[in-house]
Amino acid sequence: MSLALARKWRPKTFTELVGQDHVVTALTNALIQGRVHHAWLFTGTRGVGKTTLARIIAKALNCSALNNADPCGKCDSCLLIDEGRFVDVIELDAASNTQVDNMRDLLETATYRPTVGEFKIFIIDEVHMLSRSAFNAMLKTLEEPPEHVKFVLATTDPQKVPITVLSRCLQFNLKPIPVPVIEEQMKKILGEEGVDFDLSGLELLSQYAKGSLRDGLSLLDQAIAQGDGKVEVNSVKSMLGVVDESLVRALLELVIDKKANELVQLIDEIERLGASFAFVLDEMATLLQKLSLFSFAPQGLNEDLIDAYQQLTSRADAEHIQLLYQIATIGKRDLPLAPTDKVGFTMVLLRMMAFLPSRHSSSESKSLKTPVKEKSVPADSPKATGSSKVVRKRKPDDSEKGPGKIDLKTNSEWKSFVSAKVSSGMAKMLAENSEFQDYINGTLKLSLAPEHKHLLEDRYRNKLQDLIRQYVDKACRLEIKVGAGGDTLLVDQMVDSKKQLDQTTRDLENDPFVKSLKEDLGGTLVSGSIRTTK
Ligand SMILES: [Zn+2]
Repeated sequence: MSLALARKWRPKTFTELVGQDHVVTALTNALIQGRVHHAWLFTGTRGVGKTTLARIIAKALNCSALNNADPCGKCDSCLLIDEGRFVDVIELDAASNTQVDNMRDLLETATYRPTVGEFKIFIIDEVHMLSRSAFNAMLKTLEEPPEHVKFVLATTDPQKVPITVLSRCLQFNLKPIPVPVIEEQMKKILGEEGVDFDLSGLELLSQYAKGSLRDGLSLLDQAIAQGDGKVEVNSVKSMLGVVDESLVRALLELVIDKKANELVQLIDEIERLGASFAFVLDEMATLLQKLSLFSFAPQGLNEDLIDAYQQLTSRADAEHIQLLYQIATIGKRDLPLAPTDKVGFTMVLLRMMAFLPSRHSSSESKSLKTPVKEKSVPADSPKATGSSKVVRKRKPDDSEKGPGKIDLKTNSEWKSFVSAKVSSGMAKMLAENSEFQDYINGTLKLSLAPEHKHLLEDRYRNKLQDLIRQYVDKACRLEIKVGAGGDTLLVDQMVDSKKQLDQTTRDLENDPFVKSLKEDLGGTLVSGSIRTTK
């Protein structure tokens, strides 16, 4: 399978084209009835079949053995057009600069009769990027089209096409291809290619294709390469770097805490990551199922997860988790009915919020959390069997007995904690750049300046939370928001070193030896060259 799937399986006839039935029906009817317009414009996002359709039309117009509007694929015209070697089909990509220069000249040749074919066909991809002079050249032909000339234009951005051009084209909007159609096509292709696959792997890939069959097939190429010749859900997941459960937990936390603003921000972030909302909703349902199970049978989870799940189940009881699960699954079912997946997804989460009783967002529930946590910690200990667990458990105990216990009630206490206890890595950078906000009901709140937002990753935050728990409070929850973050340890350190440098500079200026150098030899102090030696 050396040829990329998208190229190898590019549809060659109207019948093979999937997902654009409305356009195909209109076009084939026009071809059968011989009412062929002189200019078409296909709009739609990438990879939905615009140029594929244009080539099929070019073949259908020049084919000598049409089969119900479908090109035969065997005559000279069909074969040459498929190979891109048919002189009367001129295919241009307005997005590539190399072609723009001669575009105008080419368009001016439109008046000449076709050399071999019946029609001279101009296929112009990303037509909105044509230069003004090229548009004018095209417009001349569009206004008084010779019988033998056809234009098939394609664009992802029809709004940038001049209205004079738009008004002379028959416009078709190609839709994003539905997930099940992409999945079905993948299934068919893999079947014919003799590649093993599992259905959940394909489902995931088709969701990630985001309506583009071409993108879907190149993902499929990748999946086959990474999966050692087969498509299997776990390797697909790791390939896509699919939405980590921690992200889904963060979503659920915001829902339970009824933090709508932050929720919307996180949803934007998910969109930016390119994750499929349908998939995230599935993961949400899966998480809720796990939480439900956890509240009845909290065994068989690793320590980090126990902690995270406890945070969640202490704030939403079993009954509500059931309800949220139901909202998630019904929401998934109704997602195709929403104007966009994002809108549908946001509504599902807001519905979850609306159905949660208000007490879950009050401080009452937060104060409930502490006893639950305290009960859970000793409960963990007997379960600890591995030696690594014992070592990990001992650390916080030692520090509690030892001195070093630090209060965290103010920003300056926070800074001393960071400088004394957070020694390395990204957690240190995160801590040094965070400003203390508040510490109530077992939640330590920090703010982080927007320019350090990249530090706000779960693994760094969790690391920092572990350190805080070791020294301050086992049940402490760390919450970091992007905000002011101006009064941080790092800023202090920078101010300190600036002060030190200023002092050093003053000392140097007053130094008798330096003074004499300046006076006797006309020297100057180059301020940027002064370094403190600390
Ligand atoms: Zn043919």
